[in-house]
Amino acid sequence: MGDLEQDAGWGFETRAVHAGQEPDAASGAVVTPITLSTTFAHEGVGNHKGFEYSRSGNPTRAALETCVASLEGARHGFAFASGLAAEDNVLRVLHQGDRILLGNDAYGGTFRLISKVWEPLGFPWSAMDLTDIDGLAASWPADTKMVWLETPTNPLLTCVDIEAIAALAHDRGALVVVDNTFATPYLQQPLALGADIVVHSATKYLGGHSDVVGGFVALNDDTLADRIRFTQNAAGAIPAPFDCYLVLRGVKTLAIRMERHCANARAIVELLLGHPAVDRVLYPQLPDHPGHAAAAKQMRDFGGMVSFTLHETVARSGEASALEVVRHTELFTLAESLGAVESLIEHPGLMTHASVAGSPLQVPAALVRLSVGIESGADLVADLAQALDHLR
Ligand code: PLP
Repeated sequence: MGDLEQDAGWGFETRAVHAGQEPDAASGAVVTPITLSTTFAHEGVGNHKGFEYSRSGNPTRAALETCVASLEGARHGFAFASGLAAEDNVLRVLHQGDRILLGNDAYGGTFRLISKVWEPLGFPWSAMDLTDIDGLAASWPADTKMVWLETPTNPLLTCVDIEAIAALAHDRGALVVVDNTFATPYLQQPLALGADIVVHSATKYLGGHSDVVGGFVALNDDTLADRIRFTQNAAGAIPAPFDCYLVLRGVKTLAIRMERHCANARAIVELLLGHPAVDRVLYPQLPDHPGHAAAAKQMRDFGGMVSFTLHETVARSGEASALEVVRHTELFTLAESLGAVESLIEHPGLMTHASVAGSPLQVPAALVRLSVGIESGADLVADLAQALDHLR
């Protein structure tokens, strides 16, 4: 499955609830059934209802693929067992010797996949500052065949101009992949801005409830889609039907969740900007933030992720201060991952981004990352304020 008709004319929220999710023809069930069957009856050889074997295609997965493709404004959508499985399948469109150009603060797992799995197979990579388009044009490696960008990035929330990168990359014969995990299709639609492929960790905002690991690929090009469809089936990193159901259920409320995530993030940013222990606040809405102009141009709102660094004092290093704060929040749970209803706090240097220590992607030791949830904003502000006050 995966050749998808868009539900032209419906708004985002309507497509989130209805695209690919018509009442079940057999029973009238309003909620997409979880089809566990691994195999599907043929009426005769070569004559079936669109499904043969569940690795190749499954009705619950097809509903999810139709829905999320529609939200990304894509003709094709493919669901995977994790975000990294989705990324791995996208990288398989390259040929040996093709260079991957990566933003210099990409997610650590993406960096690990490219540098530890793909590079030894003969795929060179370079990490570069994607916010500096002129610098990028001047130092562009000639063998680049794919630009891999996140915007906003994890964990520094740097934003890059998708339209400008796509124009440059296409001029130089490279594909542009956008990891849209942090923004979600509600806040940003990379394909409409010129990107070739969108990837997601569906584990985050798409699922939205910290109860499913999943990945997604969305794209328009029919030839590339045929290759992704082939590797989805041939390599087999598909999600289970129950996991597809959970992501589909999450996606129905994506728009209203994102609105609350953004509003709560704004309240947290205001607290951080006024707190003496805080050194830098990283949030794309702030006018001095790297890529603020790009974010303002291409995003509907600025997202639910907020990062900040702590001042070094005579009593404590910046890292010790960061560890003190993450130890004292009560509502913000100390945990990896992001994008779900509950608020999380973490120390990227020692947790999510430990794998990039010593590399060009190393993150500041005094950095704290927040995934701001959808709880009452006032409660979240009070919780973070009391944790910061331990530094006084
Ligand atoms: N992309 C981004 C931006 C992420 O934050 C993550 C995970 O944290 C991934 C991709 C990988 O996704 P998964 O953990 O679902 O494999």
